[in-house]
Amino acid sequence: MSITTFASPDVSAEALLSDFSQLDNQQLQDEIRGLASLTAAAMCRLLLLVAEMERRQAWADWGVRSCAHWLSWQCGFSLATAREHVRVGRALSSLPRTVALFGNGELTYAKVRAITRVATVENEELLTEYAKAATASQLEVIVRSFRRQNEVEEANAAHAKRSMEWVYEGEGVYVLTVRMTAEERAIIDRARKLAEADVSAETSAQHRPVEALVNIARSSLASGTTTSKDTHLVNLTVSAETLADDAGGECHVDGLDVSAETGRRLSCDAPVVVSLVDGTGRVLKMGRKARLFTGAARAAVLKRDRGICAFPSCTHTRWIDVHHITHWTRGGLTEPENGIVLCGFHHRAVHEGGFTVDHSFTFRTPTGVIVPKEADSLRLREFTTPLPAVAADACVSSDNGAPFDLDTAVGCLMDVTAN
Ligand SMILES: [Zn+2]
Ligand SMILES: [Zn+2]
Repeated sequence: MSITTFASPDVSAEALLSDFSQLDNQQLQDEIRGLASLTAAAMCRLLLLVAEMERRQAWADWGVRSCAHWLSWQCGFSLATAREHVRVGRALSSLPRTVALFGNGELTYAKVRAITRVATVENEELLTEYAKAATASQLEVIVRSFRRQNEVEEANAAHAKRSMEWVYEGEGVYVLTVRMTAEERAIIDRARKLAEADVSAETSAQHRPVEALVNIARSSLASGTTTSKDTHLVNLTVSAETLADDAGGECHVDGLDVSAETGRRLSCDAPVVVSLVDGTGRVLKMGRKARLFTGAARAAVLKRDRGICAFPSCTHTRWIDVHHITHWTRGGLTEPENGIVLCGFHHRAVHEGGFTVDHSFTFRTPTGVIVPKEADSLRLREFTTPLPAVAADACVSSDNGAPFDLDTAVGCLMDVTAN
């Protein structure tokens, strides 16, 4: 089974911008409704295919981080949208009634997305009845209200929503927004109050909690309880032969066994203390931050790669390493031509993950296939199975947005879900 490209996939702008003025108002509305239904049917197909790709992890062939990253890379979705597509696609696999209505263009993506947030085997039928009758925003209200009454569901959602972000407000001021659960808030608040006791008495009430939080971070760094690379140097003990070899060999980090390849990665760009030992375990040479890209050479690599991980599709700019294309134990120099910027994930991929990168910055999968630098262009294609012919009004809400009783709607939903 293969998906073939249309013989002439490019439709001219003249054809696309054809004159719609001959359509009367009814025809115009029918056309838009029909396309909305067709879009829903196509979206259903897309999400089911995404679910299949996620299930068999087909995206992993290319060394991307996740199915969502692949969608973002190859299909032009934002990462947030791609993640939502993966979530909805996964949910659909256990919602046959929703799939049937969605796939025939009777439920729009907006409605299906709402359904998948709360649907279970028990309540799916009722939810789809609501979805057919209500508008998308009415359905959102029902689903939100149902969720509020469903505490476990809410606790899980709160856990999933946890995030932290810095926003630059201007004039040297940064805003920190943290989303956390109640128990996490309690822990932070307790530590903050204790730390506030150590803030000087002259500090204003407005500034005290800020100083307290910064002091908590300072003491955490000073006590070395963090695993951050810069404050906590780990000791890598390995023989020079093992590091230079392609095969395995004994390698220890702070006394713990790690693979030789992990040793090669850590000695590639992490401020580790490298202890090279001979066959009897005698330490030959110790070097702190051995052979790392530092100073001008590091700056040149970062400038050339714009500080972004060089792996195709990756956009990471934080926690990046400068990888030696030829490892320093094999004669690779710490010169810009031998360095490449990689995020932690992809640095691991080219060491432990079996991916390779050469001096033309071409990445290959463990089986030797080149990872394309550019995404394939999006094209209209013929489908393996034709999309269904959809009725022109398939996606229209049957109740046309008529008012509904929220308490009754949610009550019924609670009843069927509990049973
Ligand atoms: Zn490396
Ligand atoms: Zn990366």
